[in-house]
Amino acid sequence: MQQTFLSILSGIPLPALIIGMDDRMLAMNAGAEALLGGAAKGRHHALSLRQPEIQATIAAAISQGKPGVARHVITGPGPDVVYRVTVTPLAEGLGVLCVFEDLTAEEQMGQMRREFVANVSHELRSPLTALLGFIETLRGAAKDDPVARDRFLAVMEREAGRMNRLIHDLLHLSRVEAEERVRPTQRVNLLDLLRSTVVTLRPLSEAAKVAVTIEGEDTPHVLPGDPDQLVQVFQNLIENAIKYGGAGGAVTIRLSLAQLPKAAALRVDVIDRGEGIDPVHIPRLTERFYRVDGHRSREKGGTGLGLAIVKHIVQRHRGRLAIASAPGQGSSFSVILPLD
Ligand code: ADP
Repeated sequence: MQQTFLSILSGIPLPALIIGMDDRMLAMNAGAEALLGGAAKGRHHALSLRQPEIQATIAAAISQGKPGVARHVITGPGPDVVYRVTVTPLAEGLGVLCVFEDLTAEEQMGQMRREFVANVSHELRSPLTALLGFIETLRGAAKDDPVARDRFLAVMEREAGRMNRLIHDLLHLSRVEAEERVRPTQRVNLLDLLRSTVVTLRPLSEAAKVAVTIEGEDTPHVLPGDPDQLVQVFQNLIENAIKYGGAGGAVTIRLSLAQLPKAAALRVDVIDRGEGIDPVHIPRLTERFYRVDGHRSREKGGTGLGLAIVKHIVQRHRGRLAIASAPGQGSSFSVILPLD
């Protein structure tokens, strides 16, 4: 019987074990051995599965033939792992089958979804609250005051614009994510694309008194890509360099050759000489809504989604995004894209 149990268990692609009616672990597959240790075999299940919930479920299965599901947390040197254990009594009193499903990814996904909804609601709530407040003022105190009315309407326009940008960026992000598995096939001349992006951003760079220059123009620069998305990448990076790093007065876009694990690549560094970013923030910058200074970003019309969009587009292109910065000396955002 032991061999039969083992052969059945080895066909189950999850950690699984069978407990006999005498409460001893009769058989375990390799996954269950890795989870509980091979020494658990032959011993009482309570020695390995100590938690009350799973104990009660196993007891009900053995004594009353009742199937059940229990949550079981395994703590070890790393982070806790949460399992859903399905406990099924076998026919003819042969024992009880326990199958372990790892819920960590599912729970993390749920947590991320909840955080995302909370963030979006929070981001939308402040401009909406401002709009509602101004509507009320315009109906009441400022009803017959044309000067105040104009001022309030200007603020309302700005707040509505903020909501509009947020919705636009959110839709854009979800579209980019949906397409992420499909690598773009069009050929793009990246140098032309960078030049025209610099021209588009000229009003912003001139207003901020920042000179934007391109270096390394003789580097090979035609590659497979989605032109609209690549414009989005470099528009975001150059705009950020002007907005947050503009104090240095100059932004350099530098092209050079690089190597990715599977292909030769073009590297584009967007370098500013502004205040830089504290290293503690760098790993989190591409998270949705992560900002070093929320107040400042909002003041500059930022949604906190720009770098998240950049990261997803670069991933879709099978490329890499690297961020380096030294506080007080400026930042460098590098996009490395395969040349074929
Ligand atoms: P947003 O600009 O809308 O806030 P991003 O995702 O584009 O959102 O950027 C996230 C944050 O990263 C910004 O709020 C800013 O704090 C920081 N950041 C981005 N680029 C730079 C830069 N060149 N220099 C300093 N900080 C930067």
